Amino acid sequence: MDASPLLSTERLTMHFGGLAALENVNFAVRPGTIHAIIGPNGAGKSTFFNCITGVLRPTSGRILLQGEEITGLPPETISQKSIARSYQITNIFPGSTCIENIRIASQSRQYSWSILRHHRSDALATDKALVVLDAIALRDKAGELASNLSHGEQRHLEIGIALATEPKLLCLDEPTAGMSASETLDMIDLVRRIGANLTILIVEHDMHVVMSLADRITVFDYGQILAEGTPEEIQANPQVQEAYLKM
Ligand code: ADP
Ligand code: MG
Repeated sequence: MDASPLLSTERLTMHFGGLAALENVNFAVRPGTIHAIIGPNGAGKSTFFNCITGVLRPTSGRILLQGEEITGLPPETISQKSIARSYQITNIFPGSTCIENIRIASQSRQYSWSILRHHRSDALATDKALVVLDAIALRDKAGELASNLSHGEQRHLEIGIALATEPKLLCLDEPTAGMSASETLDMIDLVRRIGANLTILIVEHDMHVVMSLADRITVFDYGQILAEGTPEEIQANPQVQEAYLKM
């Protein structure tokens, strides 16, 4: 009945010296879902993102994208295989306009091997960038320098940069960190909107954000999966309350 997973891990393990940041993690994201990862500080959430995006080479275990093994591939290759990530640390070019930021990102994916094809693709890249700017509600800021955007708008632009690479899976690491209440509501709207056409994996501390967005939640604790289920199941899980929700 279930569709086969878009991304899955089998016994994924990451050790830093004697520390097991991830231990035998068996995880799967179903296509078309917004899947949240929660858990206390140090639970292994960022390490998990680092492994699936190729920033870290896992100690052992396997990572599969649509059934194809991608374990240990470099980040550029994984990005070309359609996993995009929006970092907590911004990856915006502040001195470029919004539309340039999006165009650069979309060209970096498609034309990294041929500088010549770059020129022919100019008009196409502009059209695509405008579609992305629409999606992130920044169309009216197309010509604005990224450095002139508000904090919330810059986080939208970061997601636009990730969308411009046309991912199948978008990984968001704490997209509402440092946001005001109204910026957080805008971000919830944005993630919900783009999640209608895209599979999203989101690490998020704000439980209101998690509960209002996630189709499915996985709880990490000490490098292992403590629980997994729907928002309702997770909220009702006594182990989860003990480890996390009570804090
Ligand atoms: P989370 O994102 O859930 O807060 P992390 O994945 O950042 O947790 O960290 C999990 C554990 O791994 C922590 O104990 C952290 O100190 C450790 N850790 C993370 N990255 C490294 C690293 N590059 N070198 C050594 N230890 C690390
Ligand atoms: Mg983290």
